[in-house]
Amino acid sequence: MDQASREQLLKDVEAFCQEIRPIDELCYVEHRFNDQVLPLGRKYNLLGIPVPTEYGGRGADAVTYARALARIGQEGTGVRTFFSGHTSIGEAPIMYWGTPEQKKRYLPAACKGEKIMAFGLTEPEAGSNPLEMQMTYERRGDKFILNGVKYLISNGGIADVIITFAKGPHGRVSAFIVDTRGPGFAKEDLLAKCGMPTSNTAMFELNNYEVPAENLLGEEGNGFRIAMGTLVTGRLSVAAGCLGVIVDCLNESVTYARERHQHGKEIARHQLVQEHIAGIEMDRVTTEALVLQAAAAKDAADAAPANLELKNRAEILAAQAKLHASNAAWDAADRAVQVFGGRGWSTLYRPGRHLMDVRVCRIYEGTDEILKLKVAAYVLGKEYEAYK
Ligand SMILES: Cc1cc2nc3c(=O)[nH]c(=O)nc-3n(C[C@H](O)[C@H](O)[C@H](O)COP(=O)(O)OP(=O)(O)OC[C@H]3O[C@@H](n4cnc5c(N)ncnc54)[C@H](O)[C@@H]3O)c2cc1C
Repeated sequence: MDQASREQLLKDVEAFCQEIRPIDELCYVEHRFNDQVLPLGRKYNLLGIPVPTEYGGRGADAVTYARALARIGQEGTGVRTFFSGHTSIGEAPIMYWGTPEQKKRYLPAACKGEKIMAFGLTEPEAGSNPLEMQMTYERRGDKFILNGVKYLISNGGIADVIITFAKGPHGRVSAFIVDTRGPGFAKEDLLAKCGMPTSNTAMFELNNYEVPAENLLGEEGNGFRIAMGTLVTGRLSVAAGCLGVIVDCLNESVTYARERHQHGKEIARHQLVQEHIAGIEMDRVTTEALVLQAAAAKDAADAAPANLELKNRAEILAAQAKLHASNAAWDAADRAVQVFGGRGWSTLYRPGRHLMDVRVCRIYEGTDEILKLKVAAYVLGKEYEAYK
């Protein structure tokens, strides 16, 4: 991506963010799904930021995409999660593992917002260990027949296409591009969430669901590798979004602490309030460094797909960035709530909303615990992998 295209993209992201803010705030307070993210994403051409231009996207490198998501993350984890579901784990597996025909069939439509994307790996009985999945497939002629339930899927209730993982008769996992409009597809929005009311999370069931053979993604039996590979872009997107949350918490806290007076002066002049401001700034600066390092590692790995060392480095840095960023964002939101005092503990103000929403970032795309095990195994050696 050249410098002029990069600058234009980040300008479009800024304009999108300014337009979405009042809409998302109203939706949040009214506790309803924000149906304007898609049309505004389309208006500013943001529905395929890293997708190559030949398939209708903006062709952004990982560092630029991370900067875009960090800006979008300031608007809230709900808004950013739409982009993660649609692009980072929805379009990305087709970008990386799709055939040229699959790319032509899905990516331009997804970039135009004609097809909303999602990623269906988690099931009621298979979360941290996706290999325990119960969704099955079998081949019948020129079709695959899928049966089972997927749970807690971002965009799952609004998606036209879901990258879906199922186990075959041989016990190996395969990935499928599932169009959701056929008979045998049932879905239900999950509304009893602690946060992110403006974002869609759903479960869906496939009942003898027919998927054309040409919608197998990658080689049969290679689905687990595709799922784990996709988590690299997914984790990067979460980490970048968390950076945005931290930046917004910092901006809000600084503004509020300068305006609010107690004990005869701005609360920003009280040293214990300054401790919170310094804490959020440290969250910001450490997270930014790690997110940019991880995104640069992803760019390096993408530039040399056969280089296993670069691929492994991108994978561990994405996990480390996500683990750090999600905890730093949780800390920043907690501190911002404290700076706001009683007003902080309210969904009428941004810190309280960030606190409720960003908590999920320590759970999805790999929980804190799973990522710590991954980091420890990276340091100790593969033979110490505790989850095996
Ligand atoms: C809002 C939201 C959106 C989501 N979006 C998607 C999506 O788009 N697509 C998708 O496929 N999934 C999605 N998920 C699912 C998410 O990835 C899972 O919730 C997550 O992987 C954890 O799985 P689980 O909930 O089954 O928890 P479990 O795996 O049951 O874990 C419960 C607890 O046990 C711990 N634990 C489990 N195994 C170990 C171990 N070996 N060692 C130590 N601790 C362990 C976990 O860390 C956790 O603390 C979403 C979830 C939420 C809440």
